[in-house]
Formats: sequence, C-alpha cells, structure tokens
Amino acid sequence: MSGQTAVGKVYLVGSGPGDPELLTVKARRLLDEADVVLHDKLPGPEILDLIPEDRREDVGKRAGGEWTPQEYTNARLVELAQEGNTVVRLKGGDPTVFGRGGEEMVTLAENEIPFEVVPGITSAIAGPEVAGIPVTHRDHVSSVSFVTGHEDPTKDESAVDWGALAATGGTIVVLMGVGKLPDYTAALHEAGMDPETPVALVERATWPDQRVATGTLETIVDVRDAKDIEPPAITVIGTVAGQRARVVEFLEGD
Ligand code: SAH
Repeated sequence: MSGQTAVGKVYLVGSGPGDPELLTVKARRLLDEADVVLHDKLPGPEILDLIPEDRREDVGKRAGGEWTPQEYTNARLVELAQEGNTVVRLKGGDPTVFGRGGEEMVTLAENEIPFEVVPGITSAIAGPEVAGIPVTHRDHVSSVSFVTGHEDPTKDESAVDWGALAATGGTIVVLMGVGKLPDYTAALHEAGMDPETPVALVERATWPDQRVATGTLETIVDVRDAKDIEPPAITVIGTVAGQRARVVEFLEGD
C-alpha cells in the first residue's frame, strides 16, 4: 500500500438473539464484507459459524473465565480502524441494550473513527416472544421494563428499584438475571407482588438448543435449579408469562 492509510470504518452490529435468519440483511452483508469481526459468545454458535476463523477475534471471556476488559476492546476497535480495516463489532441482540454499545460509540467519536450502528433484534423482546410470551398485551399490561439482574456487587445500594418496578404492574424482563434470581424475586415479593405471578425463563432463545422453564414468583428459583437453567437466559415476570400455557402446543423449541 502506498501513501497514508485511510482510516477504516467500524460497524456496531446487533446479531439478534442467535438464529441466523434473524440477522438483519445489513448485518449479514457486513459479516461478509468485514476485514475483522470482534465478538463474544453471545451471538450464538450458528451465527459465529458464518464468520471465517481468520477474520474473527474473540473479545469475550478469556481462558480462565475472566472477561476481556472493555478498555482492551475499545482500544482494539480504534487500532484496527486506524490500520484501515472495515471492522464489525458484533453484539448479541441489539448493540445498545445492555451491550456497551454506548461506550464504544463515544470511544470511536473521541478518536475520530467513522462508525455506524446497525440495530439488532434484542433478546429482551425476542426471547419471551419465541416462548409464546408477548411483552405487552392489550388486555393485561401496557408497559414493559428491561432490567439488569446483574448488579455491581461493589454498589452500596441496588441500582434497580424493584419496589418501583413491581408498582408499575407491567411486564418485567430481566437480562443477566439467572444468578441473582433468588435476590430479585424475593425483592419483588417483599414489595407486594403476588407470589402467584407467572414467571418464565427462556434459555438460549432461538439457538438450536433453546429451553423454556415456567413457574411463579414463588417457585421459579426451584424450577431454575431443577432444570439447571444457565446464562444466557431471559427472565419474564408478569401476567403475560401465563399466556405461554395457552399457545405452547403450537410452538417449537422446548
Ligand atoms: N445486547 C443483548 C443483551 C446483552 S446482556 C440483547 O439485546 O439481547 C446479556 C444478556 O442478554 C444475557 O445474560 C441474557 O439475559 C440475554 N440474552 C442475550 N441473548 C440471549 C438469548 N439468545 N437467549 C436468552 N437470553 C439472551
């Protein structure tokens, strides 16, 4: 190459929940065109299989179980773009729903790297939906909250006001909520939520091995343990979760 290298472009791309057919047309094209794809495991095995090994860089969990520091990923995005690469930062679901896309956008802007965000279908909606659970329902609920179940343990006070969420009467969708399920179901119960409120766990939604487990606010921790539900999974809390029972025989993937 002669002369100065032109700066490349970074695409912050949502992969959707995992079924390759739920990639947007744009995401699919960019996966083919990118020089490098930075990813973690959340897009799921079927989507990651679409990317040739020599164009993939895993910035998820490292050997030993530690997460790659966000600072490393940020720096790597800038570096690859400055070398002239077309870079895809592939995120499970949508890039800005608990995806740190907000931080990456600011980093790229500060470093004057051209970038574009390519929305994806978030698991917060798709997860419940493919299990037969609409996150809103004209007859039952008119609001839905998307919440992280993964609290920073160094925080003195919970960043999530579970009492206020219970008071909305709307659907609560918890991401990263498998481990702390006992804590927040207890908090919701204490805040006055009916212990009979339906709750569903949707594990690896739209992946080939998707599983769904259902219970109530009172029973769901035992259900999780009995079925050994593991991340990634979505927790849906609210009357809408009860609708699954009425449609389940027509759904696949259990
Ligand atoms: N940006 C992502 C969310 C990232 S946070 C999105 O929009 O979907 C990571 C959490 O997302 C996981 O802990 C899990 O709660 C949820 N998640 C992502 N993909 C999932 C899938 N296919 N099935 C179930 N949960 C999923």
